[in-house]
Amino acid sequence: MENYLGSKACTCGREHDIAIDDVVVGKGVLARLPEFAAKYGAKKPFILADCNTFKAAGEQVAAILDRHGIAHGQYVFPSEHLEPDEQAVGSAVMHFDTSCDLIIGVGSGVINDIGKILSSVTGRKYIIVGTAPSMDGYASATSSMSMDGLKVSLPSRCADVIIGDIDILKNAPEHMLKAGLGDMLAKYVSIAEWRIAHLITGEYYCERVAQLIRAALKKCVDNADGLLKRDEAAVQAVFEGLVIGGVAMAYAGVSRPASGVEHYFSHVWDMRGLEFGTRVDLHGIQCAMATQKAVELYEAVKQMKPDKEKAFAAVAAFDLEEWNTELRTFLGNSGETMIAQEQKERKYDKSTHPARFEIIANNWQTILAILNEELPAAEKLGNVMDAIGISRDLNDLGVDRECARMTFKATKDIRDKYVLSRLAWDLGVLDELCERL
Ligand SMILES: [Zn+2]
Ligand SMILES: [Zn+2]
Repeated sequence: MENYLGSKACTCGREHDIAIDDVVVGKGVLARLPEFAAKYGAKKPFILADCNTFKAAGEQVAAILDRHGIAHGQYVFPSEHLEPDEQAVGSAVMHFDTSCDLIIGVGSGVINDIGKILSSVTGRKYIIVGTAPSMDGYASATSSMSMDGLKVSLPSRCADVIIGDIDILKNAPEHMLKAGLGDMLAKYVSIAEWRIAHLITGEYYCERVAQLIRAALKKCVDNADGLLKRDEAAVQAVFEGLVIGGVAMAYAGVSRPASGVEHYFSHVWDMRGLEFGTRVDLHGIQCAMATQKAVELYEAVKQMKPDKEKAFAAVAAFDLEEWNTELRTFLGNSGETMIAQEQKERKYDKSTHPARFEIIANNWQTILAILNEELPAAEKLGNVMDAIGISRDLNDLGVDRECARMTFKATKDIRDKYVLSRLAWDLGVLDELCERL
């Protein structure tokens, strides 16, 4: 694996830097834990796990520390389904042994998110021992949490060391392996949209960071057939890819390299789950299913040409108040947050549309070229989905056609980020694309 850590001056004009000291991935690398404890001068690490991850790797972590005569404290969340919320963070803080001088998180998404917060509030160094290659938060400096009943991305901190022991990761639950690859598949869309947004809105883009993602994604897809057989190369490719996804976001300073409209589909479903108790699945599974839909929609876009009359008529007919009412009904409290954001972001300011439309129309061939370069054919992507057993049918997620259409429309409003649904709004083809869902 290319050494991608450390500060590097880049042709994009920035110096890419990340606060991670080390990423160790491979068979048996958990044995290096005492080496890192020593490096940080830790006398008594604190192990944070839940009952599943403790069995998967926490017992081994404790045994390794014991063997090396290193004392340790620990807290194992008793619940089977840990929610990353106030209760969980409070519980971790209250059970923290203040005589401990290093935190070792053992788990994947939720434990890592809580571990990063615990590390941040206690000021202790933080090592994450991954138990599943299931999401790309390993290297990120934020925690994906439920706070006040809303999904938020809370600033926390990066792990100092990420340990991905393939002997542990390959035994992760099958659904989590699938989700990890699913989160990687999303990167096809993320990179395409990043380039398109760069072209249309002039936002920052770095080719080197994009290339980091492309290479990692290719490795995952090349090895995809082996994933469900728990083939070590396949598991390693996914774990490394997910770590690189996080590193790339840190390098870019934005989520662009790893998340696009497909992630917003998933966010919408998570919001609805919190608000209305509708079904949710793992982040990566939802992202993969939405990636398939996004790629299909982009294929429809490729058949289109910017039509000024149609675009201007659609924008003129757009009624923000009406749309806000639809958002409120569809998303409840999260909808309110998005409506409040629009006051600042003014994404729907009609006076800015003509200039954007000009750029789109003048660069249509370039946009098509980007789509052709970055996106796989929908059928080819579908074959990868089939190979790893992720459904292409949103109904299997409890999302019917009506909900899929509203979801797509709501992806415009999640953040001020130029994604497919925003392009469709600018082109006046939002409803047309919804027909395809
Ligand atoms: Zn760069
Ligand atoms: Zn993701």
